[in-house]
Amino acid sequence: MPRARLQALIDALNDAGFRCVGPKARDAAIVYETLHDADELPAGMQDRQEPGRYRIEQTGTPRMFAWANGPQALKPLLFTPREVLWHARRTVEGSVAFEAELPREKPLAVFGVRACDLAALAIHDQHFMQQAHGACVDPYYAKRREEMFLVAVNCTHPASTCFCASTGDGPRAQHAFDIALDERDDGFLVECGSERARAILDKMALAPATHEQIDDAMRATAQAAQRMTRSLPGRNLRDLLFARLDHPRWEEVADRCLSCGNCTSVCPTCFCHSENDLQQLDGSQSEHVREWDSCFTRGHSQIHGLLVRPDTPTRYRQWMTHKLGSWHDQFGRSGCVGCGRCIAWCPVGIDITEEAAAICGRQP
Ligand code: SF4
Ligand code: SF4
Repeated sequence: MPRARLQALIDALNDAGFRCVGPKARDAAIVYETLHDADELPAGMQDRQEPGRYRIEQTGTPRMFAWANGPQALKPLLFTPREVLWHARRTVEGSVAFEAELPREKPLAVFGVRACDLAALAIHDQHFMQQAHGACVDPYYAKRREEMFLVAVNCTHPASTCFCASTGDGPRAQHAFDIALDERDDGFLVECGSERARAILDKMALAPATHEQIDDAMRATAQAAQRMTRSLPGRNLRDLLFARLDHPRWEEVADRCLSCGNCTSVCPTCFCHSENDLQQLDGSQSEHVREWDSCFTRGHSQIHGLLVRPDTPTRYRQWMTHKLGSWHDQFGRSGCVGCGRCIAWCPVGIDITEEAAAICGRQP
């Protein structure tokens, strides 16, 4: 598909009733925003990411997706940082009426989704939508998720913080997508992943890709995987971590950790939240609000007035042993998809791959 035809895809999705969202350069980062025009995509931008550092720069290349993930994943689009779940109102008869506040926004078509974020999405689908073990479907997440259209872009420019190849989640898109793109200097290869995408792509009458173009695309993502230098010291660290709950490294990492929760905010798989009722002073109504929380906050470890994780070593240990350990019991896999965000966006540059290796006594 020639680069110029990307606009036709945006227009077709808009016509089909979606609000298109895509990556844009804003406030010195690449973030998701409403996308009206392909010219708004961050053409020529590249990123530099290291522990505690994220920068973007204009390189002048024609490519629109030559960068690794910015701070946002799909998480805030589906599991919003703050949301009113329901209202309660006192009626004139004196009873209390409850009313759910289900999402009313247009369905989203998201451009530029990376393989690691699709893997994280599959975990969130399991968490929010699977009715296993008596769990309920979350209607807020489900409404947005069932309507969401995903345009993935296979990653050819991993950051130094990326390690999705080691977790088995990238850099090629493997999980459910509607369309997956491989970007080339002269345009895109387009892979169709759903019937609704087929209906849109058929109208665009694209030329079939050649074997040579497909081989080039596979080679580009294989080379991207080879360029990743970080990795976790294994895909299942559950037993190793739980055998080391008294390791001195928990105290050492806590000397640097600020307990700020940045790592959990940017992590595409973290889903901890708190729920609170905000009441009108006159008692006439209240709203029940869900907000992201973090295992690094004091309040999140408070149960019946008792702080079960009173300090940073126990909070960092909770984060890592859940994410890389007990997540296997809950979801059948680790909670890390190797996106590297927690490394780049940690203000003191704590690196989960380095800490896991030190605690597990294994080099990645
Ligand atoms: S733990 Fe870190 S690297 Fe792993 S998915 Fe979360 S943010 Fe990404
Ligand atoms: S590991 Fe880093 S980002 Fe996470 S709470 Fe500690 S200082 Fe904040």
